[in-house]
Amino acid sequence: MSAVQLSSARRVVVKIGSVLIADAKTGEIRGRWLETLIDDVARFFARGQQVIIVSSGAVAVGSCQFNHMGRSLRTEERQAAAAIGQVRLLLAYEQSLKRYGFGLGQLLLTGEDIDSQHRRRSVRSTLQQLFNLNAVPVINENDTTATVETCIGDNDRLAARVAQVVNADMLILLSNVDGLFTEDPHDNTLARRISEVRCITPEIEAMGGPSPARHGSGGMVTKLMAARIVMDSGCDMVIANGNKSYPLAAIENGGPSTWFVPLAKDKAPRDTFAKCLPQT
Ligand code: GLU
Repeated sequence: MSAVQLSSARRVVVKIGSVLIADAKTGEIRGRWLETLIDDVARFFARGQQVIIVSSGAVAVGSCQFNHMGRSLRTEERQAAAAIGQVRLLLAYEQSLKRYGFGLGQLLLTGEDIDSQHRRRSVRSTLQQLFNLNAVPVINENDTTATVETCIGDNDRLAARVAQVVNADMLILLSNVDGLFTEDPHDNTLARRISEVRCITPEIEAMGGPSPARHGSGGMVTKLMAARIVMDSGCDMVIANGNKSYPLAAIENGGPSTWFVPLAKDKAPRDTFAKCLPQT
């Protein structure tokens, strides 16, 4: 799959990084940017595609409650920040979706929910019902209850696991980087962006670096882990810079990105997820 074929993906999971949705200094939600994202999402639904949003940002939005002066939050502070930030985040999504007559359904998941077969079934049937009700699902990790043992820890891998659970055709990771580079482009101006990856080789893995984001817990390493998860299920993935307005349109218009295209396209049967689509 490539930018031009994005419109042929039937079920798309879009992951939104904290750096895109929350202003890094103030923790304010970037409302205008969010509206342009939802404009894109509405366009996908209008042409018959299902979109599931996995959104980070709860901790980034809620952490401005604490006068933490740049130090990392303690676990209980982070959990409280997530509890406060998640409400604000979802209110912003709700407001933006309302412009198109869409409802909103929130799912807060932990690793345990994804690992258990019957909980996965509940997730699938809930998502199906949400689509039937014309409500767009917005998923985050349940940061207030996740423990070291049960947390996934970053939404790149959570989004990849969700894509697996719903047999998505496409996972879009929107972040503040243009894709996978041969080296960190901040360190080396000669670093080249890789436009397509067909297999996660040790060489590709070596191109991932540590997470630079202050609030997010991802980085290129977890994006490559996500790629490995979805490619094994025959799902395509793209990493793109979502910083501009209309971030999904930017990908479709051939904006900078890295595409991960699995060699094997075998997928599990999809009979558990019916074809009903919300109407715009
Ligand atoms: N779940 C976290 C939040 O909403 C973000 C995790 C991540 O950035 O990957 O703040």
